[in-house]
Order: sequence, then structure tokens, then C-alpha cells
Amino acid sequence: MEAKAQYLIKIEDFPKLLSTILKEKIVDKIISAETKVNAKTKEEDRFTVVPKVVDKVEELTGFPLSNFIAYGYARTDSTAKYLHKSLQGGLKEKVGLIARPCDTRALVELAKLKQVKLENLFIIAIEDRGMIPGAAKEIKKFKEIDVSKIEKEKIGDKGLIVKIKGKAQELDIPVAENCLRCLRKTPSIADLSVSDIGIPIDSDEIILKVYSEKGQDVLKKSGIKTKVLSGDAHAKKFEEIVQKAKNKRKKDLEEWAKVPQAEKIERLQQCTMCGMCIRGCPVCYCVDCILQKKRKDKAINKETYQLTRIAHVADRCVECGNCDNNCPQNLPLSLYFQSLNESFKEKFKYAPGENVDDTPFRSGKAISEMELEKT
Ligand code: SF4
Ligand code: SF4
Ligand code: SF4
Repeated sequence: MEAKAQYLIKIEDFPKLLSTILKEKIVDKIISAETKVNAKTKEEDRFTVVPKVVDKVEELTGFPLSNFIAYGYARTDSTAKYLHKSLQGGLKEKVGLIARPCDTRALVELAKLKQVKLENLFIIAIEDRGMIPGAAKEIKKFKEIDVSKIEKEKIGDKGLIVKIKGKAQELDIPVAENCLRCLRKTPSIADLSVSDIGIPIDSDEIILKVYSEKGQDVLKKSGIKTKVLSGDAHAKKFEEIVQKAKNKRKKDLEEWAKVPQAEKIERLQQCTMCGMCIRGCPVCYCVDCILQKKRKDKAINKETYQLTRIAHVADRCVECGNCDNNCPQNLPLSLYFQSLNESFKEKFKYAPGENVDDTPFRSGKAISEMELEKT
């Protein structure tokens, strides 16, 4: 998706965008975010960001922007999943949301299935480098870091960068493997987006891109002061990140293709059928999951469980990596899906999550069209 305009705004002004869409009644509610507070110590756990539904302007205090960009929502939550699961996909009300590019792809897929109503959404996307799942655990390895002193975070070339007492410290805590192979780091659909790519951690500014008339109107009504984005630092860094992702994707998928099928199936036998991948998948939408039922009835084995799941979501997997990031067995689920997506692109010219008008190649409509072409 091409941006109509690009600006720099103060980070502290970001919540004004959210309050404007509520005040102007563009949406009824917003899926915002908050960091968890430890019940015992009463201290903020800045690594655990959870969704928070807000319908009153006064409840919109300080969106944890840098934490959300670096870690995403905790556990199996994602914006697209939460919208579908907790707000009925915005079918009956207007919802504002802050979504990663893979969330916007999931929204496209859910809209094809009539599970969300895109017209009811106001989307502020985050153009990102990826997420660091499990950062709270990883950072414990750095004994010298006092996590209570972290002021801000950012994703850098090696992984997590934290700002403590005004000083940046780069830690070797890498971005999720799936994200390192992700080429689609801009939204499929959005009204606005923010990005900190190419901006130093000590800057108090962030890039704001405008994608729609609605987005332009909200920016104007918010009264936020903007500066036109000059220079090419953002574009150059973005290009470099995508190029790196292309190289990694090619290398990883070539290596994956060499793994014998028997070994791939054998790996699936390590699956414990815990269901975390299903719970986290934004495009798994069945109310009564047949796999969960079969597991409870002890009527399915491990590899059939996972192979069935792969077959169910293969042509709508938007490569968010949520299954991969949540698998306690560390199964490389994103490699199974990304390799399939590459074949679908080549054979059917189809990529899930791009456009709501694209017809899934397994649908009755696509099959009839192929039959017609043959005659
Ligand atoms: S999969 Fe891509 S879009 Fe989603 S969080 Fe990772 S880098 Fe961002
Ligand atoms: S299968 Fe995995 S990578 Fe694909 S959309 Fe679902 S959770 Fe995301
Ligand atoms: S999260 Fe991993 S172990 Fe759990 S059901 Fe999915 S593949 Fe199996």
C-alpha cells in the first residue's frame, strides 16, 4: 500500500490520534494497549503488553508505543485475533485498532470469510522490523540490566535496543525467526501508520504515514503538529531490512526444501497437541474446532493433528508467526507455512492477505474458473 503523505510527529502526540477517532465518533471503541502490573510487587511489567478496549477519551492514557512495537501483545493475542474473538470482528460496531502489517493481512482474510467488516474499522498500522517474543525471559540473561530502569525500546540490527538513563544499549536478543523472513512490512489496508525505522532511539519523534482520506482528516482534526519527512534515512533502512529478509527467506527455505519429508513429519510427532498454535492463529476462526474435539476424544494422532491444521489454514496463512512464537515444542511452523505460500505464489499467483477481492485458489469459484479456462 502506497502512503499519500509522510510526516514526523512527536511520540507523545500519538494518543491524540486515538482520542480524535473517539471524539469525532469515527469509531465506537478502540483496541488500545496497556502494560501489565505485577500483582505482588505492583511494578509495571513492560514486556507484557495486553489489549485494552477503550470507549471513553479519558481512559486513553499513554499508549505503550515502544513496548508494543518491540514485543507486540503478549502470549497468543494479536490485534486481528482480538478483534475477531472479543469484538465480533467489528461486524456490529465501529472499531479503531493498532495493527501490525500481518494483522492487516489477517483482517483481509477474515473479511473474505465475512468474519470482520473492514468498513467499520479505522486502522493505524505499525510498520515494523518484527517482534521479540519472550523478551522478559531473555533479558534475565543480562544480569547488568535493571529492567525497572528501561525507559524505551527499539528493534535494531542485532535485536533489542533498550534506553536506560538516556543511554542506548544493544542486546543480543533477536527478532522472531518468522519476522526476519517477513517481506511484507507495510500494511495491506490502513488509514494511518507509524514507524520508528531509521529513527534513533533517543529521538522523541516517530514517522506518521497517511494512507486514506479518513486518515488525513483525523490527522487534521487531531491538531497534531507535523513536520514533512525529509531525507532518505527511513526509506534506505526499510529497503535494507527487506533485502536482508529476502536473503534469509531464500536461504532458510532452500535449506528447508532439502529436509526429507519423512523428517518433516517426524518433527510434527513432537507436537503435544496443546492447541497454542490454534489459539494464536488470527485466521483460525471456527467456533467448534474439530481438531480440539478429536484430541479430547483421543481420536487423532500428533502428526495428523498438525497436518490437518496445516491443510485447513494453508491458503490463508498470513505469515504472522504467532503459531511459531507460541509453540512450546519450538516446532518451525512458520517454515511449513512459508514454504507452502511460496509454492502457492508460483503455481496459483495467490498470496493470502493482499486484497479482499483476490479469490482463494481452493474456493469453488476459483475451481470453476480453472475448469472454464480448460474448456
Ligand atoms: S510477521 Fe512481518 S508484519 Fe508481522 S510482526 Fe513480523 S515483521 Fe511485522
Ligand atoms: S498459521 Fe501461524 S503464521 Fe500462519 S496465520 Fe496462523 S498463526 Fe500466523
Ligand atoms: S503449539 Fe506446537 S505443540 Fe502445541 S499444538 Fe501447536 S504445534 Fe503442537
